[in-house]
Amino acid sequence: MAEKKVDDRFKKFGTVSFTSISKINDFVDYLEQNKVMGTKCKSCGLTFFPPRADCYKCLSSNMEWFEVSGNGKLLSFSKLEYGPVGFEKDLPYTIAILDYGDYKVFGRLATELKESDIKVGMELKTVVNSLPNGQLNYVFQKA
Ligand SMILES: [Zn+2]
Repeated sequence: MAEKKVDDRFKKFGTVSFTSISKINDFVDYLEQNKVMGTKCKSCGLTFFPPRADCYKCLSSNMEWFEVSGNGKLLSFSKLEYGPVGFEKDLPYTIAILDYGDYKVFGRLATELKESDIKVGMELKTVVNSLPNGQLNYVFQKA
């Protein structure tokens, strides 16, 4: 019997990866190519971030990838002094949400952003980031 190779690329994502197998494992390959990608439903045009393999609106699985590029508007942010298990070394960090119009991106602010410079409504861009433990994620940087 041939051994089936497990596609566990997603284990490389985030400080702590909560899953290694997903239907959107290409997301990690794109991060390695320095691209943050979402998915778009080819049937109804809905865009998703985080990427989804299936559209909840029209139930299609006919998706294509698109790059999260340009600037998003900072909707909200919150500085964390306490983190979940596994994230202690990253503290303090600031979680935030950017509005790109058709979709929103939830993530972290880049550590080099000064707290005094952060204002709701400001423009930020989403960039790939390498974590000290070799994992990949993405952060929001000055536009
Ligand atoms: Zn759809």
